[in-house]
Amino acid sequence: MAVKQFQTESKRILDLMINSIYTHKEIFLRELISNASDAIDKLYYKSLNEGITGLSRDDFKIALEINKDERKLTITDNGIGMTEEELDNNLGVIAKSGSLNFKQNNEKNEEIDIIGQFGVGFYSAFMVADKITVLSKAYGAEKAFMWESEGAEGYEITEADKDSHGTVITLHIKDNTEEENYDEYLEQYRIQGLVKKYSDYIRYPVTLDMERVRPMEKENPEDKTEYEHYTENVTLNSMVPIWKKRKSEVSDEDYNNFYKEKFMDWEDPLRVIYTATEGNATYNALLFIPAKAPMDYYTREYEKGLQLYASGVMIMEKCADLLPDHFSFVKGLVDSQDLSLNISREMLQHDRQLKLISSRLEKKIASELKSMLTNDREKYEQFFDAFGLQLKFGMYSDYGIHKDVLKDLVMFYSSTEKKPVTLAEYVSRMKPEQKSIYYVCGENVDRMASLPQTEAVAAKGYEILYLTAEVDEFALKTLGVYEEKDFKNISSDELDLETEEEKAEAEKKLEESKDLLEGMKEALDGRVVAVKISNRLTKHPVCLSSEGQITLEMEKVFARMPQAAAGGEVKAQRVLELNPNHPVFEVLTGLYENDKDKLKAYAELLYDQAVLIEGLPVDDPVAFSNRICDLMK
Ligand code: ADP
Repeated sequence: MAVKQFQTESKRILDLMINSIYTHKEIFLRELISNASDAIDKLYYKSLNEGITGLSRDDFKIALEINKDERKLTITDNGIGMTEEELDNNLGVIAKSGSLNFKQNNEKNEEIDIIGQFGVGFYSAFMVADKITVLSKAYGAEKAFMWESEGAEGYEITEADKDSHGTVITLHIKDNTEEENYDEYLEQYRIQGLVKKYSDYIRYPVTLDMERVRPMEKENPEDKTEYEHYTENVTLNSMVPIWKKRKSEVSDEDYNNFYKEKFMDWEDPLRVIYTATEGNATYNALLFIPAKAPMDYYTREYEKGLQLYASGVMIMEKCADLLPDHFSFVKGLVDSQDLSLNISREMLQHDRQLKLISSRLEKKIASELKSMLTNDREKYEQFFDAFGLQLKFGMYSDYGIHKDVLKDLVMFYSSTEKKPVTLAEYVSRMKPEQKSIYYVCGENVDRMASLPQTEAVAAKGYEILYLTAEVDEFALKTLGVYEEKDFKNISSDELDLETEEEKAEAEKKLEESKDLLEGMKEALDGRVVAVKISNRLTKHPVCLSSEGQITLEMEKVFARMPQAAAGGEVKAQRVLELNPNHPVFEVLTGLYENDKDKLKAYAELLYDQAVLIEGLPVDDPVAFSNRICDLMK
């Protein structure tokens, strides 16, 4: 059979492996043992599901063998094996699309990062081997096949002989070079150490024929002691999965390593959550909160879910029903003895036990986040930076049914604290006479701070939440009230900031200016639903606000949605507000009496200014510019 080429991307990664200067080459063994364990899992699960007899869990094992003379290290499993086609597809291609995305985004630290982050599975063996053969027979198949490769040049697959199902991987360990020692991978104690370090929890025995020495038995005890060599087949791993061990038996590093390997992250998790429960639902769960959002997190491609085990046997890789959407960032696994091994996916969805577990986990995750917020603020801010958006989406999705779980976990940027704060913190700082929680929306903090509308609220010494994410205002509107305080958008809602005197004063002003306001509204010809005297302006002459449920910020959000292009536009009802204490107001009053044409031009100019300050586009930039030029002439 002709030599086949690796796919281009795979070849690049392979090149990296072969010439790797990566310091943790030893991880190759972990990768191969994990693959072997997965292959056994698959067969075991299949046998349970399809009622195959003659396979016993006790017969499964992963055998390591060292042949120093031939420089060979062999990893044998009696798992599901691979057909010719599977050998071709699985070992000719890098399966993890994630690693490719990662490469595109990070050309600089390419090598270290790919290996560290993804392990790159099977290929990592090329870091220590110059030739690899994979002899495999798929369960139930007639024929066995041999995959062979000496690296980037390509690979060959030929028919081969093998009695029983499973896979034998043989690594021809590289010769030592001046810089690198490869002999160590042929040392039994080194291999033993690596299994202990990385694969101890693997639930099938990982065995090695170890050369031992013992004193020879003598008939006469006076005789000089002599020693003999013998081999002993030793099981190297403890086989207790990490989530079945007591917390005190497991170090943070063990948890972190387990997480990184199992969930393909290259950074330690931000938090490890371990819980074991008995009673209505008996289960162990080991959950992790990643330190950063995965690249595809906020896309459709991201799939939430936890691994699901029934009494130590994995029955589902990603069980979505175990996690609510607002905690979709959580990784981990659940092992329960209450679930039946051959339960189908459809049945699982309606399983009462599973529902119980998932609601317990939701509570547990919420309380862990709460405790992180109280006890480790810095970490929580890091967490929120990565996944805060998801919590806010969660608040308003499903008609707000999760809002109570989430309202104390979300944060918004504070005008006075200059960092994200919780609603509880905001409320604790409210002034005695302050009735509402004030917020404003905008693209960035500086811009919001300089909005004319923030002046009056800030002048009162009130804290303002600066909402920068599109979802923020929707989330607050869904919440409605927090500790009986309502939310007020300082650029659109009635703020009710004035004293009685000020109110009376404003009332008078309004009465006097009624005609002017009406005149300006007419001049603006349908662009606004009203022109008003403002109580939120101190320095600026004008601002734009809105009436009704749709705010200007929501209008912007809707405009960015795809349906906007299809004609389904959602518009805020715009209101132009005038500052009655600004010199411009006097000018307008004068014009109303003497020069209606000029009043129209000024009204349009002020309107456009207000529009610009809001961060919206003016309807007719040329007309706007011409009007300014006219003024200059
Ligand atoms: P990953 O294990 O992350 O999918 P690998 O490159 O390590 O990536 O392996 C690619 C695929 O090859 C595996 O998904 C699996 O289908 C198959 N494979 C690897 N090793 C074995 C094995 N020992 N037995 C059966 N299939 C295997």
